[in-house]
Amino acid sequence: MPVDLADIRAAHDRIAGRVRRTPLLRDEVLSARLGVTVLMKAEHLQDTGSFKLRGASNAVLSLSADQLARGIVTASTGNHGRALAHAARLSGARAVVCLSRLVPANKLAAIRDLGAELRIIGASQDEAMAEVARAVAGEGMAPVAPFDDPAIVAGQGTLGIEIAEDAPEAEIVLVPLSGGGLAAGVALAVKALLTRARVIGITMESGAAMHASLSAGSPTLVAEQPSLADSLGGGIGLDNRVTFQICQALLDDTVLVSEAEIAAALRHLHAIGHIIEGAAAVGHAALLAGKVRPRGPVVTILSGRNIDPSLHARVIAGANGVAA
Ligand SMILES: *Cc1c(COP(=O)(O)O)cnc(C)c1O
Repeated sequence: MPVDLADIRAAHDRIAGRVRRTPLLRDEVLSARLGVTVLMKAEHLQDTGSFKLRGASNAVLSLSADQLARGIVTASTGNHGRALAHAARLSGARAVVCLSRLVPANKLAAIRDLGAELRIIGASQDEAMAEVARAVAGEGMAPVAPFDDPAIVAGQGTLGIEIAEDAPEAEIVLVPLSGGGLAAGVALAVKALLTRARVIGITMESGAAMHASLSAGSPTLVAEQPSLADSLGGGIGLDNRVTFQICQALLDDTVLVSEAEIAAALRHLHAIGHIIEGAAAVGHAALLAGKVRPRGPVVTILSGRNIDPSLHARVIAGANGVAA
């Protein structure tokens, strides 16, 4: 494996002063309904509003002074860009974030507010990634990949260490799955520390690149579609080096949830006091829909909170998708 538990432990120490240790909360309502303990890693309370700060901080703190001086460039569906802008600012480095037109306006504004330069390129994450390659070749900037990088996987894996420490009884961990940085890191840590636990990747039905790639046996292109889980959009890269291999080896299963199931999960989580984004609700969506039926303690990861407020309001009022 390109990343191991020692790398994740080193990342945990490296980012300790810059990243919050988020609580593991109990969902009393769903625990009662399912008859098993349902725990939520409350990573929507993380600074910048998502777990992406863990990987971005680890990657930025792993760069040389020379690389920091030349600036950092990345492509992002929003949350990684915001986390990277924050981490770069703390390290005094210039950041350029390349995004597709599908990224919601609230995420663009938040990245701009952190002092990063935005470049909006095309209608897919892959086109934004091509702009990163141009900035590296033409401007000498240091690239920080959104997921397919050992430093990112190790950083996201720190969340798995915290789950294993706070819920050693966990039997299943449900991980939102897109490029697989989170799933790879969490699976590495959880499987090393809790040898009985199963780790399941959860993603949306439309445009799920890692699921399609795992089914096909190699990285596969999928068409991006608008989704309530906008943070799960984007390909895994046909030249994927790190996350595909780890997800293929360590994920016990992947489960797909519909837009209506994600919407129902957003309403359930709102009713118990949590405003989160669609990508962060997929674990709960799988439990509420009966697509995962745990027989013992289960952990979901509320991976972020950065939902467009008007979209959240429409879903709470009953909308079952991104369309009004
Ligand atoms: C990025 C992101 C994910 C998926 O993470 P990957 O490492 O790309 O699989 C899930 N939830 C939120 C909120 C995210 O921002």
